[in-house]
Amino acid sequence: MEAMVLKEISSAEREPLQRMGLPVPVPGPGEILVKVSVCGVCHTELDEIEGRLKPRLPIVLGHEVVGRVQSLGQGSKIFNRGDRVGIAWIRSACGQCAFCQEGNENLCPEFQATGCDADGGYAEYTTVREDFAYPIPKRFSDAEAAPLLCAGAIGYRDLRLSGIKKGETLGLFGFGASAHIVLQVAKYWGCEVFVFTRGEEHQKLAMKLGAAWAAGIQEKPSRKLDAAIDFTPVGETVPRAMDILEKGGRLVLAVIRKRNPIPSLDYTRHLWDEKEIKSVANITRKDARDFLSLAVEIPIIPEVEEFSLEEANRALMLLKQGRIQGAAVLRMR
Ligand SMILES: [Zn+2]
Ligand SMILES: [Zn+2]
Repeated sequence: MEAMVLKEISSAEREPLQRMGLPVPVPGPGEILVKVSVCGVCHTELDEIEGRLKPRLPIVLGHEVVGRVQSLGQGSKIFNRGDRVGIAWIRSACGQCAFCQEGNENLCPEFQATGCDADGGYAEYTTVREDFAYPIPKRFSDAEAAPLLCAGAIGYRDLRLSGIKKGETLGLFGFGASAHIVLQVAKYWGCEVFVFTRGEEHQKLAMKLGAAWAAGIQEKPSRKLDAAIDFTPVGETVPRAMDILEKGGRLVLAVIRKRNPIPSLDYTRHLWDEKEIKSVANITRKDARDFLSLAVEIPIIPEVEEFSLEEANRALMLLKQGRIQGAAVLRMR
């Protein structure tokens, strides 16, 4: 099968993924083999390529996988051949530890991630444990469904953890794949959404999707915000967001790693008055399932830019430069 493989940590500018022929993986007991149709391109892949996260090497990246079940491993019984399934970032968790038992399998010490601890979807085929795959609702095309599996599902977790309530004001810092989905959910929940992003195209898309306001990171909105989510890979947005949060407001940090340090915070100005900062780590299977149902109900329609598998390096570069509108998706031949 054809695959795009990361062999060593590199900068995204150096065409880090190599096109290679690999053997089609064999599904183990309880696993399924999935013929990949599309795979979303996520910021986390830039963190892996550039070494802020440590993937197993060599690795086939990709954790927003939509495809069809090609064959079943021994004892697999949830899906049939030909079923359309999705695979997300969570690849496995132990199921036994206190975190798993309390429904926080995203925090499990044995947590394994797709396209990081094991090969993912930048390839024609991939395997996954059947209980870590999701049926894809009919409402969505393959390409529309892919970004729902990470950008959407983790965005949904960000929103829940932000504690935002109906009718409140929400700030979104950065406007990429995840934020453009979160905006649609927040609108559905009756929230007023303020978008902070430097790109004019991104500001336009935000307004088109129903933002109350969209402007540069340094611009001042007309009112304080009840909650905010920071999707940017830079540190400077943290004090900025804390500055415009309402008393008791919470900032959620949505990225796995920041590219540069967070500047020091002024206690009185940024944290006093019961303001909070919380990070989000991974997702649970419940996040993915709950979000897919909600996405049908709203419905969420992601904006998608398609690339071929061989164009993965270019898609990643454009993502790094903030030049993707909505979400990027790789399509297999
Ligand atoms: Zn992701
Ligand atoms: Zn566990």
